[in-house]
Amino acid sequence: MTILVTGGLGFIGSAFVRRWTLLNHEPVIILDKLTYAANPRNIQPQRDTVTVHVGDVADPRDVASILQEYHPRAIFHFAAESHVDNSINDANPFLHSNVYGTVNLLEQIRKHAPGTHLIHVSTDEVFGSLGLKDPPFTEKTAYAPRSPYAASKAASDHFVRAFATTHGLRVNITNCSNNYGMYQHPEKLIPTVIRKALADEKIPIYGNGLNVRDWLYVDDHVDALMYIHERGRIGEQYCIGGGTQKRNLDIATAVLGALGKPLDLIEFVEDRKGHDFRYDIDSDKLYLHTGWKPTTSFLRGMITTIDWYVRNTEWVNSCRNASESYSQAAKARASIPPHLLRPSKFSPSMTSP
Ligand code: NAD
Repeated sequence: MTILVTGGLGFIGSAFVRRWTLLNHEPVIILDKLTYAANPRNIQPQRDTVTVHVGDVADPRDVASILQEYHPRAIFHFAAESHVDNSINDANPFLHSNVYGTVNLLEQIRKHAPGTHLIHVSTDEVFGSLGLKDPPFTEKTAYAPRSPYAASKAASDHFVRAFATTHGLRVNITNCSNNYGMYQHPEKLIPTVIRKALADEKIPIYGNGLNVRDWLYVDDHVDALMYIHERGRIGEQYCIGGGTQKRNLDIATAVLGALGKPLDLIEFVEDRKGHDFRYDIDSDKLYLHTGWKPTTSFLRGMITTIDWYVRNTEWVNSCRNASESYSQAAKARASIPPHLLRPSKFSPSMTSP
């Protein structure tokens, strides 16, 4: 038996693969387009049981060939454009990967693997923004996305639900709060704060820094996905949260305190357009159905994360940024150890310089 992990070279997908291969011997197939957000180094320790296909989840031939060759019994779908700021600059890649990619995956499952269990990894951002005293998001909260990223994920959730209803596909939709941990791309908030603090550079914080997020350590998120796969009820949607609300300013001051750096490194910059004020999430249904609870305290998770970034500047320097092109994706592809790589038959553009 096999599982398929889309986006398995990104932050959360690779955390999932590392944890899965620690706990299971079942082979893992990764389908990843190697966008700037992917880093092949994220999965290097895995050897025998991981195979990487470089390809596009929105390309019918890439997905069909994998489903026909491996017949995965479960698919964990992480592949997406994930950075809100990039979606504000250009929403098209978000439409492509998040919406067309998910619809294509559903179409190919319907045609080639209708019994496969799809775990669709989505975000709490589909629910919009909360006021300071509003109750947390639950599975019953109405969708109200406010950024192009959130809108693309909301659309993908609707398609997953529609395919389950119309075609009887076996799915779960998960809506998770902000993740943090090792191997997160340096463009995201916590790695940015750590990186800038280490370099004694100004740390840009949007607006007045009072926006609130719920934070979950990435390994707790991937555990939740495994719990849902093993113990969840098919067809259900599950909210996943860390029960740890922090203001962006609290994050910056915590990192500066841990690194012994002065608070005046913080620099307030013009607010993000349409910046959501607050997210909070209620995971009671997930606990009730599966027994999952986060096990990593914010303090322990942050210490582990900061320590990892301090010791892994080489990894940080190996990450690409969103403006980099396919030729750099080809270079990244060349850095995947050959024993892990299965060339995609249908994506020649990924291999040419
Ligand atoms: P990421 O940007 O770090 O990684 C995304 C991965 O998907 C990359 O490896 C990229 O190459 C790949 N990818 C992108 N488009 C693709 C395509 N068309 N075909 C194949 N592969 C493609 O993202 P992440 O932070 O690991 O997030 C993973 C998933 O979890 C996303 O769906 C995101 O919406 C969701 N999510 C993230 C968070 C968070 O805090 N990071 C929170 C909740 C939900």
